[in-house]
Amino acid sequence: RFPIPAPRSGRSRLLVLAGPTAVGKGTVAACIRESHPEIHLSVSATTRKPRPGEVDGVHYFFVDDAEFDRLIAENQLLEYAVVHNSHRYGTPRRPVDEALAEGKTVLLEIDLQGARQVRAAEPSATLVFLLPPSWDELVQRLVGRGTEDAEERARRLRTARTELAAQNEFDFRIVNADVATAAREVVELSSVSAR
Ligand code: 5GP
Repeated sequence: RFPIPAPRSGRSRLLVLAGPTAVGKGTVAACIRESHPEIHLSVSATTRKPRPGEVDGVHYFFVDDAEFDRLIAENQLLEYAVVHNSHRYGTPRRPVDEALAEGKTVLLEIDLQGARQVRAAEPSATLVFLLPPSWDELVQRLVGRGTEDAEERARRLRTARTELAAQNEFDFRIVNADVATAAREVVELSSVSAR
C-alpha cells in the first residue's frame, strides 16, 4: 500500500488533476508551479519523444521502453498507463512519497486511467477534473496548439469523449475558462478539501 502520513487537519495532500486532451492541464499545472513553488508537482516518466522546448527531468523523464519496463518491474511507479493508445506514462513513486513525508502538497497531472489507479491505491487522494468551457472550445484548443496531426487529433478526441463521460467519478470539477483562475481554484482545493 502506498504509504501516506496521516493528513494534518484531516485534509488530503495528494491532489490528482485529470481531464481531456487539450483542456489545459499542463498549462494550469505550469501556472501552479510558478505561483506555488511549495506544491510538489510530480514529474512523470514517459516513452514519448520530447516536444520542442521540453526539458528532460522538468516536463517529463523521457525514457525508452526498456527503461519503462524496468521501472514497472521494480515497482517504482505509483501508477502508469498507455495514453491515447500510443505511449506509456507513469508517476515515479519515490518523489511523491518523499514530498508527502515532508508535509508538502503533491499534484499529479495524469490521465483518467492513472487517476483511477491512484484512487484505488490511496482513497484519501483528492481527484479534480478539469473541464473545457464547451466541446467546441476543446476542439479549437487541440487544433490551435498544432502539436498533433489530424489522425492523432481524432484519436485524442475519442479519448476525450470517454474521459468526459467519467467526470462524475471525480471529487471536484473545475472549468478551465481562464488559466490563472483555474490554477487558483485547484490550489484552494488543496487546502479546503477533505474526504
Ligand atoms: P502529453 O503527451 O500531451 O504530454 O500527455 C498526454 C497525456 O498523458 C495527458 O492526458 C497527461 O495527463 C497524461 N499523463 C502525463 N503524465 C502521466 C502519468 O504519469 N500517468 C498517466 N496515467 N498519465 C499521464
